[in-house]
Amino acid sequence: IQWFPGHMTKARRQIEDKLKLIDIVIELLDARVPLSSRNPMVDEILKGKPRMVLLNKYDLADSQLTAEWVRYFAEQGLKALPIDAATGTNVKEILPRAKELWAHKIEAQLRKGVNPRAVRALIVGIPNVGKSTLINQLAGKKIAATGDRPGVTKGQQWIKVGTEMDLLDTPGILWPKFEDQMVGLRLAATGAIKEELLHMDEIAFFVIKYMVKHYGAALQERFGIAELPEDLDDPNEVVKVMEAVGRKRGAIVSGGKVDLDKASLIIIRDLRAGKLGRITLEVPGEL
Ligand code: GDP
Repeated sequence: IQWFPGHMTKARRQIEDKLKLIDIVIELLDARVPLSSRNPMVDEILKGKPRMVLLNKYDLADSQLTAEWVRYFAEQGLKALPIDAATGTNVKEILPRAKELWAHKIEAQLRKGVNPRAVRALIVGIPNVGKSTLINQLAGKKIAATGDRPGVTKGQQWIKVGTEMDLLDTPGILWPKFEDQMVGLRLAATGAIKEELLHMDEIAFFVIKYMVKHYGAALQERFGIAELPEDLDDPNEVVKVMEAVGRKRGAIVSGGKVDLDKASLIIIRDLRAGKLGRITLEVPGEL
């Protein structure tokens, strides 16, 4: 998706329509780039709805830094849970947290002698963060068509997560913060932005520099690099790393020169697939 102001207004209106139907929001972020994958206006858009944060693709992120991010969100009063929506790791923790967010209402209903109804939840997040994957994981085979419920927009379907949570079957789509060049590079590196919109060599440059600084040994091991650059501000040094990658992986053009575009793509694809190890591209204290 290319986001223009008109699209943002429309996306926002769609979320506002869904907010009328639900009790709590599940905000899905990418554990590798928790802040870059966050909508800059999320607090304003969600208007104080009880909320939990999920750090998805935890399987691809640095577990030590994920723990730091959980602390970061806790300091802001938000409980964050690392999950892997693709395999289902920690997904069963979502329901107890949802009930906790809604406990005051459940207790109030019980006091009145009313059987508490299921807590109604909406998943929100930027494109490609894993919303559909999580919805499918939570749904299992229990997708319920309950569009005739009072107050429910026609066409909205609810997914039963056990008997205690109903999830809207279509997520709220948010846009990322594009204005910041670093945010753009982090999102591009993780695959949240379409490849054809970007310069691969620029992203690869960013990835190499970050890897040298934070995960140098993994970079050396994967591509058989004897020595890492010392001066990361010298583009020639970074290009040397790219050349080493190209030679290692056979990205050579006629005449024996390294195809830098291909080498860039190799680095980016390896990163996204987790082949460079578990990597987080944002460190809480460094922002
Ligand atoms: P959406 O646009 O937010 O609905 O994102 P999708 O659910 O379509 O997921 C985007 C991509 O991320 C897909 O290729 C998923 O398989 C992948 N994905 C989703 N969750 C995870 C996860 O926890 N770990 C990994 N490794 N990949 C995931």
